[in-house]
Amino acid sequence: MRIDLDVPLRRGAWYRVKKLGPVQVVLDVAGDPVEITRTHLDIVSAPPERWSVVPRPKTPSRFPGVSAYAVCPKCGNRAPLQGRPAVLRCAHCGKVSAVAWNERYFQPPETPDVPGTHP
Ligand SMILES: [Zn+2]
Repeated sequence: MRIDLDVPLRRGAWYRVKKLGPVQVVLDVAGDPVEITRTHLDIVSAPPERWSVVPRPKTPSRFPGVSAYAVCPKCGNRAPLQGRPAVLRCAHCGKVSAVAWNERYFQPPETPDVPGTHP
């Protein structure tokens, strides 16, 4: 989600929702629950406008030496990753987007991480 107000949360940052109520939302901010009024948030279910990092190509023979690739947020084009670029330009649609290195949408979760299951 996107934060658009002056609270101890980073604007534009994404936080996991611990509890989604009709008025109040509890966010997981670095492990601490932070309650905030829902109208202040832009809650989205779609991935952000960033390259999603996919750990391994399904067809390694097409990308020799590549251990990961990125998926363009605009057109879905896949680009092999070498090193850890912060920003990538899509060779297909030309869109320049940041690479979501800190997100794990496409990686299998190591532990179940379902909102609301914390004690
Ligand atoms: Zn693209």
